[in-house]
Amino acid sequence: MTCPICGKPTAPGFRPFCSRRCADIDLGRWLTGQYRIPVSEQTPPEDEAENSHPLDRSQGIG
Ligand SMILES: [Zn+2]
Repeated sequence: MTCPICGKPTAPGFRPFCSRRCADIDLGRWLTGQYRIPVSEQTPPEDEAENSHPLDRSQGIG
């Protein structure tokens, strides 16, 4: 079996990794995957804001 991080032969003390460094890397990936932060903040183009008002949908009622 080889280290899933770098592909080197695993070390008996750090299985399934080859060293503590690779173990830390895998741990970091695991943590970042668990606490994934949604980064879908896409600001709309300013040109569209100039043409139409943001409350344009309010019309039609009444
Ligand atoms: Zn490794």
